Amino acid sequence: MIIMGDDAQRVKDRDAQEYNISAARGVAEAVRSTLGPKGMDKMLVDSMGDVTITNDGVTILQEMDIDNPTAEMIVEVAETQEDEAGDGTTSAVAIAGELLKNAEDLLEQDIHPTAVIKGFNLASEYARDQVDDIAHDVDADDTETLQSVAETSMTGKGAELEKEVLADLVVRAVQGVTVEADDGSHVVDLANLKIETRTGRSAGESELLSGAVIDKDPVHDDMPTDFEDANVLLLNDPIEVEEADVDTSVNVDSPDQLQKFLDQEEAQLREKVDQIVDSGADVVFCQKGIDDLAQHYLAKEGILAVRRTKKSDMKFLKNVLDSVIVTDLDSVSSEDIARGSVRRDADEELFYVEGEDAHGATLLLYGSTEHVVDELERGVNDAIDVVATTVSDGRTLPGGGAIEVELARRLRDYADSVSGREQLAVEAFADALELIPRVLAENAGLDSIDLLVDLRAAHEAGDANAGLNVFTGEVEDTFETGVVETAHAKEQAIASAAEAANLVLKIDDIIAAGDLSTSGDGDEGGAPGGAGGMGGMGGMGGAM
Ligand code: ADP
Ligand code: MG
Repeated sequence: MIIMGDDAQRVKDRDAQEYNISAARGVAEAVRSTLGPKGMDKMLVDSMGDVTITNDGVTILQEMDIDNPTAEMIVEVAETQEDEAGDGTTSAVAIAGELLKNAEDLLEQDIHPTAVIKGFNLASEYARDQVDDIAHDVDADDTETLQSVAETSMTGKGAELEKEVLADLVVRAVQGVTVEADDGSHVVDLANLKIETRTGRSAGESELLSGAVIDKDPVHDDMPTDFEDANVLLLNDPIEVEEADVDTSVNVDSPDQLQKFLDQEEAQLREKVDQIVDSGADVVFCQKGIDDLAQHYLAKEGILAVRRTKKSDMKFLKNVLDSVIVTDLDSVSSEDIARGSVRRDADEELFYVEGEDAHGATLLLYGSTEHVVDELERGVNDAIDVVATTVSDGRTLPGGGAIEVELARRLRDYADSVSGREQLAVEAFADALELIPRVLAENAGLDSIDLLVDLRAAHEAGDANAGLNVFTGEVEDTFETGVVETAHAKEQAIASAAEAANLVLKIDDIIAAGDLSTSGDGDEGGAPGGAGGMGGMGGMGGAM
């Protein structure tokens, strides 16, 4: 009996596992070389020819246009990690790949996938408990440690060159939007923080400004631009003549009729402007358009108006001014008016807007070119997330591979208490975590085998903070030297790497409606380390 179409493909059991594992490992190996401060960048060229140069794991994977279903599961690890923690994407994906590599060895020894999965789950849970045990507490006002966290997250990224200036800005920015809850915990409201990017100046000139920065011009040259006590209206309704119904056309037979028609339009615009005047507003940020004639009326009334304000800016202005966005001008009243100050920077062609009860801040990031500032923004964005997570979570870890080596050591001890084949899987999990210090060393051109031996020895001797200084090649207390990570991101990375590996291991049968491998099992025969066999890394060409 034939139940599948001609084009369908079916791969079963070990073949299915091998196929999936090599696809997943291919993805992991693609990002590995970017790990750590000495990691390399990747240049990604999309199908439109747009170029992104980045070191950011999740950006690389998103731009890679992967259409292999297994590989996509690994990409999801990176995306979850990015959403949950803002950092550690490369680590999470690399660990997932290494878990699968080690799992493959176990499968080859005829250990059943179920035992491997169970062992990985035990190890993942145990490792996360241990993270909590190893973590150091950090206060929301411990600026020095938070700056180390920000700098560690920025190393190896475009933001690195000016990382001291930027780390200072990031920490001040996050502290500025942090409030202490009744129970003493800290809540960071990132909705009150916005990044604005500008080219033409160096990154070191970036600054943190109170309130919102709006990159817009007044609609009319004769409008006032500076208000110390402004009444601000946020409007998402066009100040334009209302469009007649689509199918009514206006027949103009005589000059009289034309004049009447124009008068009507004029009256309508006048009424809209009067509504604004009556509301008491002297500044209007409008998300929609403003008719020329209305611009003229507004200028005459001494009202500053800005049109086509970006939606994201409107939302942020609403936060900064603690206000509402009016969607129907007919219903506007003085209650909808927010109080604040508006200043114009004529050189930069920006407006600075602050609320009366100042909250909300803008990080104005400078970079020499568009590419530079884009990568800078990714790095700073991640650093903000990481510092915010650290402030609300209150726990940090020693970086440079220290935490991974310590976890591996504890996992190996723990493995002794695990019975059966699962024990081997727990040990394989410990080995996989040590991929991080190994790759950090490799990417820095250091001897990874020797260094791992040194690291293990230091941890055996009780130094839980012993990590790798990739610049000197020394093993040192990375917590002391300021290579500090956030505990929450590490827990998340371990959890999602284990989940993804287990998801892949559970599959023993692949039934595809079409061809599984569009780019064919090329000369690499589906082996990891290249695009070969990873169906459809379209558009990447030889860029990897
Ligand atoms: P990820 O996407 O996983 O965050 P990164 O490229 O940011 O990848 O690299 C993070 C790793 O680099 C972490 O293990 C971190 O501890 C390590 N690291 C960062 N700065 C240093 C440093 N100065 N020395 C040694 N290791 C560092
Ligand atoms: Mg990072």
